[in-house]
Amino acid sequence: MYGTSRNEILFDRAKKLIPGGVNSPVRAFKAVGGTPRFVQRANGSHFWDADGKRYIDYIGSWGPMILGHGHPAVVDAVQKAMLDGFSYGAPTEREVELAEEIVRLVPSIEMLRLVSSGTEAAMSTIRLARGATGRSKIIKFEGCYHGHADALLVKAGSGLATFGNPTSAGVPPEVVQHTLVLEYNNLAQLEEAFELHGRETACLMMEPIAGNMNFVRASVPFMKRCRELCTQYGALLVFDEVMTGFRVALGGAQSVYAKSLPGFKPDMTVLGKVIGGGMPLAAFGGTRAVMEQLAPLGPVYQAGTLSGNPVATACGLATLREVQKPGFYDVLAERTRTLVSGLTTAASNAGVPFSGDSEGGMFGFFLFNDLPQNYGTVMTTDGPAFNRFFHAMLDAGIYYAPALYEAGFVSASHSTEDIAATVDAAARFFSGL
Ligand SMILES: *Cc1c(COP(=O)(O)O)cnc(C)c1O
Repeated sequence: MYGTSRNEILFDRAKKLIPGGVNSPVRAFKAVGGTPRFVQRANGSHFWDADGKRYIDYIGSWGPMILGHGHPAVVDAVQKAMLDGFSYGAPTEREVELAEEIVRLVPSIEMLRLVSSGTEAAMSTIRLARGATGRSKIIKFEGCYHGHADALLVKAGSGLATFGNPTSAGVPPEVVQHTLVLEYNNLAQLEEAFELHGRETACLMMEPIAGNMNFVRASVPFMKRCRELCTQYGALLVFDEVMTGFRVALGGAQSVYAKSLPGFKPDMTVLGKVIGGGMPLAAFGGTRAVMEQLAPLGPVYQAGTLSGNPVATACGLATLREVQKPGFYDVLAERTRTLVSGLTTAASNAGVPFSGDSEGGMFGFFLFNDLPQNYGTVMTTDGPAFNRFFHAMLDAGIYYAPALYEAGFVSASHSTEDIAATVDAAARFFSGL
């Protein structure tokens, strides 16, 4: 094996025991080709792979690491919590503190429950929405990801009257027969769907700013109509803010839309990623009337051995304390905008069509396209060009998400030097096209 990289050796070992060599599919580099980097350690805005090569990290664990890696206040909180025990299966004060903090920062949430992953939170939200409304149907949008629960792994069927088809083997068609999949930002389809099925719909679940089809915003008129139709038909509007919560703004994407739509609130919110600061922690919450339908108060069952884990809540609380410091999101948003405008200028200097957008510490960009409005358009952007871009950046020590349909993340520890180095590397790539 002399001369082989440690990443390759580890990948070969991993592939023998772990399907595809990874514990979550997109890590496998299948979309972009090549060998995944095995991370040895991370600090601030950087991580080092198994060969000791350093990368500027624009994934940040797919969003949670908003402070960067190894923030001293967070490390300290986690170390202290660890010494008091890893898990009790009984309630703790820290769970109450974290709930109080989230409810204070996200006004639409009156009550919440802590769980361990975004998938769990979204899945439980669907059950609760169905239990609370006594209805079975749910509406989602193509390209929005809500974790891997059966009812949510669905693509659009052939027409509106027909419901979705599973996107994964192992999901029986009967399980997704109540899931309606619509095109994001398509007002006419939205109207038609509610007219046909609104009275049987438990909830409309959406990523308000979608980060699982690169970066696509719901337009303000579209969002306004989602809210109005849910209210009119008695369906719950569920914001999946697992990615956007405490990432795009302190109050999440809902606070961004409330600026254009005064008084705007979803009925329920799903949170994850940043609220755990890198530990397995997620939550779902909403109005008191709906949340009180959950066991042990109400008839909707939901539970978890590790829910509200004491080490995870310590990590989440310490993270949420840091993001509340004055100016945190102003600086983060400015740095992210500098990155996106730098990339845009570099592309335009080289005559390369390019578009990009950001909100808070979340961004996306598209090679050779204007900003797309829906999943279909995202998938027409240039995949092979993205893959060449990805590998050129990787060689230059810059780690973007290894697929064109993923958003990127800037942390508070990304320096202006990190951003400048990233833009320089991109400029070299664009000018060589
Ligand atoms: C990441 C993500 C999830 C799933 O969360 P996991 O913790 O990976 O289960 C759900 N919804 C959105 C919007 C996400 O970005």
